[in-house]
Amino acid sequence: MQFDLTILGSNGAIPAHDRHPTSQILNYNGNHFLIDCGEGTQFRMNKFGIKRGKLDNIFISHLHGDHYFGLIGLLTSFNLNWREHPLHIYGPAGLEEIMNVHFKHSQTQLKFEIHYHHTTADAPRVIYEDHFLQVETIILTHRLPTTGFLFKEKKGLRKILSEKITEYSIPHAQIPDIKKGEDFTDATGRRIPNAELTADAPATRSYAYCSDTVFTESFVEQIKGVGVIYHEATFVDEHTERALETFHTTSRQAAIVAQKANAGKLVIGHFSARYESLDLLLSQSREVFAETYLAKEGTVFEI
Ligand SMILES: [Zn+2]
Ligand SMILES: [Zn+2]
Repeated sequence: MQFDLTILGSNGAIPAHDRHPTSQILNYNGNHFLIDCGEGTQFRMNKFGIKRGKLDNIFISHLHGDHYFGLIGLLTSFNLNWREHPLHIYGPAGLEEIMNVHFKHSQTQLKFEIHYHHTTADAPRVIYEDHFLQVETIILTHRLPTTGFLFKEKKGLRKILSEKITEYSIPHAQIPDIKKGEDFTDATGRRIPNAELTADAPATRSYAYCSDTVFTESFVEQIKGVGVIYHEATFVDEHTERALETFHTTSRQAAIVAQKANAGKLVIGHFSARYESLDLLLSQSREVFAETYLAKEGTVFEI
């Protein structure tokens, strides 16, 4: 199953140096999840060939504009394109109010339903679930109530060994139960333990999106062993004080979080407009966590 992340926007509050505010697409087997929707998201989707019609779920981390100013435009395009199927938006309660004020004063009649799922930044909660994936909130520490999102693949069924099907003449009808972990009893009444018939389900994959936050290890336990973590890295070491004052993180601190979480790979983003070159952000992070990559727009990361 395809599971990958496309970076649409990678900058902090102000668009600069051809970098746009935060926005990402997580693709699970053709099901696209939009994570934050900064200004310019639609242009980035056009540029990187992401189809708007495939979006059914949008996750917004918090109500600083660099994380949602693209949403009114996107919803308006849906409407102009005669979208009919419902849309789900996960974010702070105020977002629904903001959108409704706009639609009221622009006298917009939406042709599709929007289901708002209000997030709260008090405790992690499961906010989305389907057959393959579960999404839970990550509690971050920022100037506004802010959550990240942990996308976790569900554990699949055990894999049945084809040679055992032949060896024990296992009827097709019984295979689903064996995949779920049951033993098999053959025609003579002999019981074959499940462990002999199956192999473990493939390892599950996960992605942690850690949006704006001051440096904190408070959620490390929740994301332990995560495959890929995105963490904001607004500042370099020299501006550590500034990071603390503004409730943001340095790239070195993001690396410490990734290291403590025993993550496979770290993607850093939300770069301050004061840095034209991102080299120092990357090198300072890599001093702590070698598997660090820049959230360059258009880059696709396998989860
Ligand atoms: Zn931000
Ligand atoms: Zn913010």
